[in-house]
Amino acid sequence: MLSMRSVEPVKLTLKSPFKFKCHKSIECFTRCCRNIQILLTPYDIIRLKNKLGITTGEFLNDYTYIEIEEKSSHPFVFLKMIDDDKRSCPFVYEGGCKIYDDRPANCRYYPVGQASLKKIDQEINQPITEEFYFFVKEEHCKGFNESKTWTIEQWREDQGVDIYDEINREWKEILFRRNLPGHMLDDVKQKTFYMACYDIDRFRRYIFESRFLEVFDIEESILSKIKNDEIELMKFGFSYTKFILMMDNNLKLKQ
Ligand code: SF4
Ligand code: SF4
Repeated sequence: MLSMRSVEPVKLTLKSPFKFKCHKSIECFTRCCRNIQILLTPYDIIRLKNKLGITTGEFLNDYTYIEIEEKSSHPFVFLKMIDDDKRSCPFVYEGGCKIYDDRPANCRYYPVGQASLKKIDQEINQPITEEFYFFVKEEHCKGFNESKTWTIEQWREDQGVDIYDEINREWKEILFRRNLPGHMLDDVKQKTFYMACYDIDRFRRYIFESRFLEVFDIEESILSKIKNDEIELMKFGFSYTKFILMMDNNLKLKQ
């Protein structure tokens, strides 16, 4: 599990340089794929369930567990480690990662961590989201001893995680709600959050096979997009979650 002692308390930017290389002949190869806690984002879940050829419901049931964050009562989804003596990731093998092309955002970032904070921009006097980075320096990871140099920006692009951040951005906006004191979710809102953000195959059925469309006035062009495109469906799920959590009055009810 990631220990806070491994987090270097220095706030980095996209331009911050570092030396690092991870390769198959390094002595610690795959050591970072054991005894860890990997938070999955909504887009991670789509990529992984498609890689495995199963539904989001099957993936969530077989490969994940839920934790409810105490402060906000938001449900979070984590990858379940297998029950061996090392608590290994279900996808690690001697040759590396079985699902490498679709590995989660947190695996892509490692050994870099990413965080966001909301603050007021003094120049425009508006709230803005600041993204920043930090190193996760664990004793077993020998990649920092290598000579290849990167900036954080180059690392993100090389690992393909910039695309993940872009797609998950609205979900991260929802998570800022945790800073509102006294806004705990009741059971129904928690379950809706979980379905609309993580279990999108069930969310699709909820839209098209329940009374949803008798209640909400959704444009035909949007319906056609969310029927055929999972990313659009996921983004609609973020909008619906915001509506249910009363963060945004973005959906129209039928008269
Ligand atoms: S998903 Fe792949 S990269 Fe991530 S911990 Fe598992 S084996 Fe390692
Ligand atoms: S511990 Fe570090 S260097 Fe070793 S395999 Fe994992 S990321 Fe690469």
